[in-house]
Amino acid sequence: MTTAAPTQPPLDDLLAHIVRDDIRAMGAYHVSDATGMVKLDAMENPYLLPAMLREALGKRLADVALNRYPVPTADALRAQLKRVMHVPAGSEVLLGNGSDEIISLIAIAAAKPGATVLAPVPGFVMYAMSAQLMGLNFIGVPLKADLTLDREAMLAAMAQHQPAVIYLAYPNNPTGNLFDAADMEAIVRAARGPVCQSLVVVDEAYQPFAQHSWMPRLPDFDHLLVMRTVSKLGLAGIRLGYVVGHPKWIAELDKVRPPYNVNVLTEATAQFVLEHADVLDAQAATLRAERARLMAALSALPGVEVFPSAANFVLLRVADAAGLFEKLLKRRILIKNVSRMHPLLTNCLRVTVSSPEENVQFLDAFAASLQEAP
Ligand SMILES: *Cc1c(COP(=O)(O)O)cnc(C)c1O
Repeated sequence: MTTAAPTQPPLDDLLAHIVRDDIRAMGAYHVSDATGMVKLDAMENPYLLPAMLREALGKRLADVALNRYPVPTADALRAQLKRVMHVPAGSEVLLGNGSDEIISLIAIAAAKPGATVLAPVPGFVMYAMSAQLMGLNFIGVPLKADLTLDREAMLAAMAQHQPAVIYLAYPNNPTGNLFDAADMEAIVRAARGPVCQSLVVVDEAYQPFAQHSWMPRLPDFDHLLVMRTVSKLGLAGIRLGYVVGHPKWIAELDKVRPPYNVNVLTEATAQFVLEHADVLDAQAATLRAERARLMAALSALPGVEVFPSAANFVLLRVADAAGLFEKLLKRRILIKNVSRMHPLLTNCLRVTVSSPEENVQFLDAFAASLQEAP
């Protein structure tokens, strides 16, 4: 004998009952379909490894024990990163599944009731997003109109909001510029004393293109972390980020880290590529030279404002960013329209610096689109 099933509420009601309101209200992270496009929207390195190295990598990966869990401490890779990336003696390294994961770990570790994350805006979206997801407040301090750091506004906001964590991206995304070193230092110093008590995270995702770093300054500050990633360097697909700082900070973050967050294929690939770091360095040097060429060519076009860049992308302002973006799409060029990210970015576009061939394709399409009637 069967009993009648109790009437079930609609699934949407169940979702509303279970899932947080703020999460149901969110849009999903949008990634554009780039099939058949010249893809200049995501700051990827256009170059693969040379064929010989790819073959050798294939052999190396064939020997990886896929049946075993990773060694959670990843000692060999961390030691290699310390050597290759010139990590100062006395600093420790923690690995993440991309630096995106490290940003989440920091938010989890700092998520005391009422805690605040503070960063300049426009900035990297994950700082605000991780704060929201973990229940921290986020305070965005607007850059100046010329997109430089507003030191006074930062110090005032630090005094007012007493942030637990301050992010400074160096260079900044989506603006591309390196903040003034004296402004940065004033903020770092203020965060360990007179103004507030904060952890400062300097995000150096674009360090290979900037050639400036806070890494050598780590021994000077016990409240400073330097975060890097191999993504913009040519390994976005393997998802590996790392953060460096005082061993006491790293030890706390390590408690939050899922033990197997870096998989064995990522670990083996990173070790292999770091043995050939000269190849990545040469690619970065090519991209820096291409950046100079691209910026000069764009600056020569009428009605285009080109902002300074120390990253592998360039921020531009044009008369009609949305229109130009669409015209480029019709020419199979995908860049990023950042106009609506922040009022300071009105009519701004962001384009990744790529190979000489792709940069020429972009420049030709860009110039043609500019001339086309609206
Ligand atoms: C791309 C980017 C990251 C994220 O890097 P992943 O390691 O790929 O997660 C972090 N910070 C900034 C500023 C970035 O632009």
